[in-house]
Amino acid sequence: MNDNELGMGAKITRRDFLDGVAVAALAGVASGLPGCSPQSTTPLRGPAAIDYPPATTGLWGQDNSSYAVMHKIRDGAFWATAPVAAAGREHYDLVIVGGGLSGLASAYFYRQARPNARILILETRRDFGGHAGRNEFNVNGRLLLSNAGTQSMESPAEYRPSAARLVRELGIDVSRFYRYFQQHRYDGLSTGIFFNRKTFGRDYFVAGAYTRPWSDIFAGAPLSPDAKADLIRIHTQGIDYLPELSPAEKVAYLKTISYSTFMTKHARCNAGVLPYLQDRPYDLFGTGIEAVSAFDCFNAGDDYGMEYPGFQGMDLGLGKGKWRREKPEPYIFHFPDGNASIARMLVRSLVPGSIPGSTMEDIVLAPCDYRKLDDPDNQVRIRLNATTVKVVHDPDPSRASGIQLTYATPHGLQGVSAATCILACWHVVSRLIAPELPPGQKEQLAYCVKEPYVYTHVALDNWRAFKKLGVYQILAPTSYHYFTMLDYPVDMGGYQSPASPDDPMILFMLRAPTKYGLPPKEQYRAGRWELFRTPFFEIERNIRQQLGAMLGSAGFDPARDIAAITVNRWSHGYAYEYDKTLWEHWAPGQRPCDLAKRPFGRISIANSDSSGAAFTDTAIDEGYRAVGEVLRFG
Ligand SMILES: Cc1cc2nc3c(=O)[nH]c(=O)nc-3n(C[C@H](O)[C@H](O)[C@H](O)COP(=O)(O)OP(=O)(O)OC[C@H]3O[C@@H](n4cnc5c(N)ncnc54)[C@H](O)[C@@H]3O)c2cc1C
Repeated sequence: MNDNELGMGAKITRRDFLDGVAVAALAGVASGLPGCSPQSTTPLRGPAAIDYPPATTGLWGQDNSSYAVMHKIRDGAFWATAPVAAAGREHYDLVIVGGGLSGLASAYFYRQARPNARILILETRRDFGGHAGRNEFNVNGRLLLSNAGTQSMESPAEYRPSAARLVRELGIDVSRFYRYFQQHRYDGLSTGIFFNRKTFGRDYFVAGAYTRPWSDIFAGAPLSPDAKADLIRIHTQGIDYLPELSPAEKVAYLKTISYSTFMTKHARCNAGVLPYLQDRPYDLFGTGIEAVSAFDCFNAGDDYGMEYPGFQGMDLGLGKGKWRREKPEPYIFHFPDGNASIARMLVRSLVPGSIPGSTMEDIVLAPCDYRKLDDPDNQVRIRLNATTVKVVHDPDPSRASGIQLTYATPHGLQGVSAATCILACWHVVSRLIAPELPPGQKEQLAYCVKEPYVYTHVALDNWRAFKKLGVYQILAPTSYHYFTMLDYPVDMGGYQSPASPDDPMILFMLRAPTKYGLPPKEQYRAGRWELFRTPFFEIERNIRQQLGAMLGSAGFDPARDIAAITVNRWSHGYAYEYDKTLWEHWAPGQRPCDLAKRPFGRISIANSDSSGAAFTDTAIDEGYRAVGEVLRFG
């Protein structure tokens, strides 16, 4: 299909505005500082005429404006041309760098300990919440919500006391999600598989994976007879592929080989099966099966109901016949905007007048008045479009009575002082903005290479094509977005998720940019670079082509049926996780993140990077720890 047929010229919401790349460039030219910039659609909620970030379409998440300043600092190009900072007259008890969940939770815990404290949160983006952001669409007058990043509360029963307490105190009763999450909404629909022409030779779509016999699923697939036979075997037969080893030996061995090696060397699969399985671990590991150990695949499972075939006949310590680690709770703890609701509830609690209401239900549709976030009358202030560039002790670490911070805004550099500071931004950023940190600690901070992800949301006029094909989610091995699903059906607080196929719908599409064959960190770096270089229109074209190819047989027309696109680009996504058994081996408490997060004078370090785990609760826990450290002062 050519660009016209794909609808590249169609008037969708995002076309009313410049995409992030163009706007960031303009902002840089206009301000002299490559700072932040307005690019949102007409506000759906909240006061009109002011920037309303959740309604942003086009390129969002970490758009170019969100890292322009920090990249200049990283490249050593910032200070040579930086304007002189305006003298800071403001003083706070605590300044927090980073308005993600960790920073917001830090403010929450600090204020709890010091109810009269003055706290400032400096956030580089146009929105608060960090990864826990919110997407809003208005399709034919109907409001649709989704998570820009952080999706669900993962096993909240296992939260540690600090995160569990915060969630409880905010008023979140997770048991209610058993009512709100419509677990049977998509009953009767199944998982589809799309084989693309580029990898497999021709486009082929089949519905019914995990419900119909595997022999039916693969019968017409563009795979060699050997690959088909092997795929059917590994999905259906309980064979022990390491019969000579005990369960403990199996586990130990499977930690030393990749899942792809396990498939070819031990399960004796034809190499033709590998492309089909290649991106199965993308959502949790950010790399393909060649870079994740067979044991990690078995152990991690998958939140989207997919599985890693080949373990059915193997006792890997769970007992014979148990080849999948059961998650302790279902994956249903999901607000309509994901964990953005947690961020919004934190803001509501911290900043009076910003968001009305008091319950976990009314937060869903409550408008946020962004003008209130940095209100001088409030004790807690959140300053958006403010990139912290320097954090130093005053006058120096040995004699300090406080901290001096410098931050960049679209209007120039500003200064502010504080008694203490929490760096709730990423480890790689902390290392760059806190020059006094010891060299060894900076190295430990630099170890963390975050995993890049793209969470794309496509607003559709209707989802009849999915209904017609009989699917609610689609696996598309090796396609640009390897996974597509109808958004989670959650009805709460007056928000009704789309129920009829004639209703407008949000599609969630997932991409992990990888570079086959490299070690994980190198893949993350290469993936980030790829994202950095890809303009929005290329991503849009990929989306339209892929949806047209997957759904076209059911009448889907990308030029007609797409109402809006938001590409949430998280180039700095998941915290680096150290439990990659193929690559990392650390003694307890000795991971670089354990050492990197130690406090330095009046500066403490939070963020999920400190936990080595990309989760909502760990971000909160790290905020709690950091607050305990800074409370020692004054
Ligand atoms: C795509 C995605 C999906 C996820 N899904 C889930 C999920 O379903 N469940 C779950 O539990 N966890 C999930 N996670 C993990 C979870 O979102 C994170 O662990 C958590 O939100 C991180 O919060 P944080 O505050 O530590 O970091 P962030 O959210 O990254 O916040 C740090 C903030 O610091 C800001 N910042 C950076 N540098 C500066 C600077 N110099 N000055 C000022 N501000 C700065 C950034 O803009 C950012 O807003 C997901 C993560 C991603 C990326």
